[in-house]
Amino acid sequence: MLNQLTISELTAKLDRREVSAREATQACLDQIARVDGQVKAFLSHDAADALAQADAADQQIKADVQKPLLGVPIAVKDVLSVKNQPLNCASKILGNYISPYDATAIEKLKAAGAIVFGRLNMDEFAMGSSTENSAFGATRNPWDLERAPGGSSGGSAAAVVAQECIASLGSDTGGSIRQPAALCGCVGLKPTYGRISRYGLVAFASSLDQIGPFTKDVRDAATLLGVMSGQDLRDSTSIPAPVPDYAAALTGEIKGLKIGLPKEYMVGGLDPEVKASVDAAVKKYQDLGAEIVEISLPHTDYAVATYYIIATAEASANLARFDGIRYGARVDGNDPIELYSKTRGAGFGPEVKRRIILGTYVLSSGYYDAFYLRAQKVRTLIRNDFLKAFEQVDAIVTPTTPTAAFKLGEKSGDPLQMYLSDIFTISCNLAGICGLSLPCGFTKTPQLPIGLQLLGKPFGEETLLKLAHAYEQSTDWHHQFPVL
Ligand code: GLN
Repeated sequence: MLNQLTISELTAKLDRREVSAREATQACLDQIARVDGQVKAFLSHDAADALAQADAADQQIKADVQKPLLGVPIAVKDVLSVKNQPLNCASKILGNYISPYDATAIEKLKAAGAIVFGRLNMDEFAMGSSTENSAFGATRNPWDLERAPGGSSGGSAAAVVAQECIASLGSDTGGSIRQPAALCGCVGLKPTYGRISRYGLVAFASSLDQIGPFTKDVRDAATLLGVMSGQDLRDSTSIPAPVPDYAAALTGEIKGLKIGLPKEYMVGGLDPEVKASVDAAVKKYQDLGAEIVEISLPHTDYAVATYYIIATAEASANLARFDGIRYGARVDGNDPIELYSKTRGAGFGPEVKRRIILGTYVLSSGYYDAFYLRAQKVRTLIRNDFLKAFEQVDAIVTPTTPTAAFKLGEKSGDPLQMYLSDIFTISCNLAGICGLSLPCGFTKTPQLPIGLQLLGKPFGEETLLKLAHAYEQSTDWHHQFPVL
């Protein structure tokens, strides 16, 4: 079935004219009709528009136009602007808002020929680790519908694993691509800060946010990264670093590469089955010729606290724009202040309100120095830990998450427990480096995917992809999909 293919498999078939983009798109739409009532990965999708895009792609294929994603259906997290499509960030506050323009990453996907369709569920404003904070109901993990797919890009991970699209996009501020990729069992890549333009990505924490792909294998992640990367004058934090041919790095040859194993990451709270799978992956890397080096990231313990100061501070400022005047929903009041507070009171969910209150507090006079300023200093120490480690090693390997997928409702009553599920992914964003999660095994009963995280130097995505690909090709995990 065409919806089961990877990008490289589908483009090869399209190239040989064995199948059409319309057939591939229809296969995804059929799969959505068949399984999304259970999985709930999509908030909405416009089938007619997707098929019209497919027909346009088929015309180009007929005319021998060559583009890397021509005719490939790709679905998008509800945090990215796609022209003329709804944009809600899984919140009620945006009401019936329709994007008037394309995000740069979307513009690049379209220019590469992709069929950009569907709005994927997420935690409201990307705040959460389970998609339970969506104002429109949780997404379910395709491996076990009683469990969370992770978050905040839970819909993006679930849609790929449930084979409702060929690949998808998400965003990662503290783990929101890598954590759901690990819990659902696909590849998720958070590029280096500045690699992909954030123009058209609704801001959560602007100094941490990055857009990235969810894919069925590492080669597809390399393809999407290559298409979306590059400097953009509309995002002053995008970096003018050259965009390499990422696929060319997938040689399978990793002899002599040095991989760091941080001693601070293999400690208490780590599920024994997760630990066993990560240990086995490390052993596999040795067999493939890589050298494993024990390293130390001494400020690891401070990462979660630092993140929840910086991310909430930035969020409190970024979300000020949702005031009932400029966008979306409005609840009227007798004066502007009453209008703002009624709109925001009705429009934001509890987690978003908690973050705005925390963020306003850590920025307020009298507390700024004690919290925000200090967190910025610790952030520098965390970044320096990584830069120092990368003098010794080419990449770092860790578990992506401390446990496999947890049950819906298991952590939603205890925000601190939820925050701790990102313990291994958060430092990467604070340090501004790149990170990737790929499948490295399953728990026994129930059968749930386990994720391996690789962390790389700033703009070290080639090495990361090379290492991920070599491991992937020596295992069978990426060929296993849930039965729905
Ligand atoms: N789970 C983390 C949070 O709730 C990270 C979210 C993200 O990366 N967008 O903030």
